[in-house]
Formats: sequence, C-alpha cells, structure tokens
Amino acid sequence: MSFRCLVCHAGGGTDLVYGACPDYYLGTAFRVDYVRCRACGLLQQSPLPEDVSPFYGAYPVHEAKSKLYAMLRWLVMSPIYYDAGKHRAGTALLDYGCGDGGYLEAVDGRGFRLLGYEPEAGQAARLSERLRIPVHADLESLLASHSGTLDVVTLHMVLEHLTDPDAALANARHLLRPGGTLYVVVPHADSFEARLFGRKWHNLDPPRHISFPLLEHVRRLAERHGYTLARHGPVPFPNGFAASLPVVLSGRFRFPLFALVLPLGVVDFLLGHDAGLSLKNTIQARVLKVQRLILRMVASQFVICAAYLVHGVPDKCGETNKILTTGVGIGLGHLWRMRPLESRPVRRDVVGLNLKTKSSSHQ
Ligand SMILES: [Zn+2]
Repeated sequence: MSFRCLVCHAGGGTDLVYGACPDYYLGTAFRVDYVRCRACGLLQQSPLPEDVSPFYGAYPVHEAKSKLYAMLRWLVMSPIYYDAGKHRAGTALLDYGCGDGGYLEAVDGRGFRLLGYEPEAGQAARLSERLRIPVHADLESLLASHSGTLDVVTLHMVLEHLTDPDAALANARHLLRPGGTLYVVVPHADSFEARLFGRKWHNLDPPRHISFPLLEHVRRLAERHGYTLARHGPVPFPNGFAASLPVVLSGRFRFPLFALVLPLGVVDFLLGHDAGLSLKNTIQARVLKVQRLILRMVASQFVICAAYLVHGVPDKCGETNKILTTGVGIGLGHLWRMRPLESRPVRRDVVGLNLKTKSSSHQ
C-alpha cells in the first residue's frame, strides 16, 4: 500500500523510524511499522490499517475497573484533562472518544450540558446508563442533532488513535458554535521520554496509536478546518516514564510493575526535567534559574546602593525611596536574561492544545 501522510497528504518519501513494533501493552499479535513523512515530519504508522477494531479486542479503557486501577488512572489522567473551571453552568461540552467516561465523570455536577461520543456501541450504552448522560455511538445522528450548538469539544488522547484526523477536526468544527473551544491532548513523539525509550515508549502504543501530530501538525490541521491555535503547552503525565520502564525491564507492560514504578514517574515529573533536554542540561537549567534569582537580588541591591551614594542615605522619605529603587533593580534583573539553555523549547511527554473556532463559518 502506498504511503499518504495524514497531515500534509503528501504521498512521497518516508524514513523508517521503528520497524515491526510489537504490542507491548496488550500483547496482541500485531506488528506495525512507524515511518516519518519526509515532507512534514509526521511520525505515522505505515501502512495504515483498514480496520482498527481488532487492535482493541481487550482494551482495558473499556473494562470495568478495580478500585486501585480506577484510582491510579484518575491520578495519572486528571492532570491532562481539559480544565473546564472557567465555564459557566449550561455550557455544552462533548467528550469526543470518551473511553471509560473518566472525564465526563470528573466534570459532572457543575450544571454543564454533557455529551459523550464513543464509537463502540456497547461501551456507549453502558456509559450512558452509568453516567446518565447521552453518549452517542452513531456519529451521523450526533452531527445532525447538535450542529453548531456546542461550546467545548475535548479530544483527550484520541487524535493519535485515528486513521483520519481531518474527519475528527471537521466533525468537531461542525458541532461547535463560532468561538467554541476544541481541546486536544496528544502524546509528544519528539519528547525526552520518546527518545529515551524509543520503540518501548509507552505512548507509542503500537498498534493502536496511528500518528503523532506535533505542534506544527496540529496548527496545520487547525488552519485547514477553521480553527486558530489559541494556546498550547506541556501537560503532566507520569505514565510516559512509569509505564515504559516495565517494558524495558520485563519485555512488556505489567500493571503491578507499573504501579510500583509510578511514584518514580511522579518524581521524574516533579524533577521537571524538560523533555528534549538531556538530564545534564536540565540540571544546568535549574542552576541557571537559581543564579538568575541571585543576580536579580544583587542587581537590586546595587541600584539601591548607587541611589544612596547619589542622594545620601534617606531618612524621612526612606521607605518610598527604598521601594522605588528595589523595583527598578528587580526590573533591571528581569531585563538581564541568560538564554543559552532556556531558549530551547520545553518539551514533555504529552502536549495540550486549545483551538478556537473562527467566528466566520466556512462550512
Ligand atoms: Zn506529511
């Protein structure tokens, strides 16, 4: 089958990145290749699967959970969820690809008009019954019944599963009102964890993950479908580290090992190593931050001393004078930036992106 890039649609050259990747997570018999599009740099499975449903035979996202599993899942998933705190009661929010309903459950009780979309009909029905909200399995009826009415659509770790990301963005665009928000969370294939673990990186998740759009790819998709990229940034997700380590140690994902290693993943996250930087550079970046803070303090004191030398040590108006000069000093400190490492992009395992629909519809 010939290659066609899911983002730039080029059919040209590719470079093989990971060949014959086994399913480390669920242990199915599939083996898939990941290639990089030479035209736009997208990492993508090739050839594209005709039917992805066999990949999800025993997908744990759709299973009933033990209490421990549910708790751990909430712990690692909640930081990547869209923060709906700024939205008022009555907000219409659709979780597109809502999986086990974790996000809908988390935002329930705020007076939102909640909706789910989950293509697996049995799962959609179970969710709908459990959460008592409409969970659609039929895309056509969803599109027909909610056209241009939604305020927020969320794609939590969904885009990378799709063989047609264009369709997802177009569908969300159709459902959103002008000025509505599409929130996208995707694994970052150019991150520190991705490079460190290579084909054993948990978020590669072969064969279920199909493509890995980076910032420039999402921007391109956004432009094509009538959105502007309003905000983007790394989101904390200790899974990348904690779930990859069991694969390295034991050859496949094992839940007990993952649960054991998860605190390390949290520590790894808290250390805040900026993925994309080596550990050495990360430590250097931290040291630089402290140095900069000290330099600011010294600079502000220097300005105060200089002011005292010119004006004499203040007596009556002393406090005002001191506050003013300290302010000037801190301002100078802020201007003085040391950039050798900090100007490099800060990258993490998972990235969140906020898209806004443009007010003029082009449908
Ligand atoms: Zn491409």
